Amino acid sequence: MSQELEFPNLESWNSRSSERPFIIAGPCSAETEEQVIETAQKLDKMNVSIFRAGIWKPRTRPSGFEGIGEKGLPWLQRVKEETNMEVATEVANARHVNLALKYDIDVLWIGARTAANPFTVQEIADAIRGRDIKVMIKNPINPDPGLWGGAIERIANAGISKVAAIHRGFSSYTKTKFRNPPEWQIPVELKRKHPTLPMFADPSHIGGNRDLIAEISQKAMDLNYDGLIVETHIDPPNAWSDAKQQVTPEKLDEIINNLVLRDPQTNDNVFIHTLEELRGKIDKFDKEILDLLAQRMEAATKIGEYKKAHNITVLQPNRWEEIITKNVKAGEKRGLTKNFLEKLFKNVHQESINHQMKVMNKNEQDAEHSS
Ligand code: PEP
Ligand code: MN
Repeated sequence: MSQELEFPNLESWNSRSSERPFIIAGPCSAETEEQVIETAQKLDKMNVSIFRAGIWKPRTRPSGFEGIGEKGLPWLQRVKEETNMEVATEVANARHVNLALKYDIDVLWIGARTAANPFTVQEIADAIRGRDIKVMIKNPINPDPGLWGGAIERIANAGISKVAAIHRGFSSYTKTKFRNPPEWQIPVELKRKHPTLPMFADPSHIGGNRDLIAEISQKAMDLNYDGLIVETHIDPPNAWSDAKQQVTPEKLDEIINNLVLRDPQTNDNVFIHTLEELRGKIDKFDKEILDLLAQRMEAATKIGEYKKAHNITVLQPNRWEEIITKNVKAGEKRGLTKNFLEKLFKNVHQESINHQMKVMNKNEQDAEHSS
């Protein structure tokens, strides 16, 4: 059983947070002191609450830029001193936590790969136990609401009350328009379990493409998310990591200003979007059914040609009986009714026969023409 947890609202996080959306912005990675400071100065003017920058970067392969490391932490300290923003960075082990604490980082976040590993989340929880620090927990890469909730409980159990969730989408084997498909029903489910938990969307990592940021951010606002974390860089195409998904501070300003903030009728919006998500699944299955039927008809046509070549009739009553009996039985085991299954397979079989008849006739017509 998951615990019922209470979280303080974002107004207690910092003085800039009274309006929705609460904005966290900054580069994927801290690259140079100039890049950090220049980005921060621009974001500070836009009422951004928290400046984000990765100091240690989890990279899929060892050849990528793995972050500037400890050397970048004083740059974040400078941002903290010279602007009205708080600063945040990703931690993936106790060493990162200790260094971040040493340099007075205000907010830590646990990345998606780390959130999937309970041992590491516990190691981080133990390293921050009793500290006055804010922690944002990204969803784990795998679509498992229990694992995400478990990571949040581990941090809360370490005495950290200012905890938030970041929805950054889930890994997917199939190619979609998103880098990490959002599966909106999962954060909705987490929020249902923990209604006071602040929820931020990360449209940069969901979309993987700067052109998708506005659309994903709007959807998050319609679902009554508290805020957004958006990767922002002064020169996105030349960023050292995640170049395709970063936006300039100016572009971020435009995206935020164009957001339509509707009244937070949470339940209705949640209902509408959950329904939309489920309908998307139905549409996908319908397409798969059509693709499979088309393949089945292709196979039937080949059989028709084979039958024709061997001078065998199209309708084979034994085979017909076998198809109906076998599939009605298998379908009933899956909770489908006999009446539906009989109609479905009679129709499918009839369509196969029609395709085969066409093959037979076509061959005869061809033979007539060539004689
Ligand atoms: C990031 O925020 O730069 C990052 C590495 O994100 P994630 O853990 O969501 O992949
Ligand atoms: Mn990134």
